Amino acid sequence: MTMASLEGHMAIIGCNNCGKCALICSHDALEFHNDRVTIDHDRCVLCMDCAKVCFIKAIVYIE
Ligand code: SF4
Ligand code: SF4
Repeated sequence: MTMASLEGHMAIIGCNNCGKCALICSHDALEFHNDRVTIDHDRCVLCMDCAKVCFIKAIVYIE
């Protein structure tokens, strides 16, 4: 996805791939696979729970 097409979605920027956020997403929108986290934007409900647990603030909402 380009930055423009990410408008209105969560984006992962500068992630250290700790995997913590994928454990707490109650909508199965975050997948930790091959040491990388990806977001399924069709499942994400923008609850921001992942952003709250990411201690380096690598998950942001793109306005
Ligand atoms: S905003 Fe909520 S639903 Fe979307 S990926 Fe983060 S925890 Fe999951
Ligand atoms: S919690 Fe933050 S640093 Fe860890 S995998 Fe998720 S986005 Fe990346």
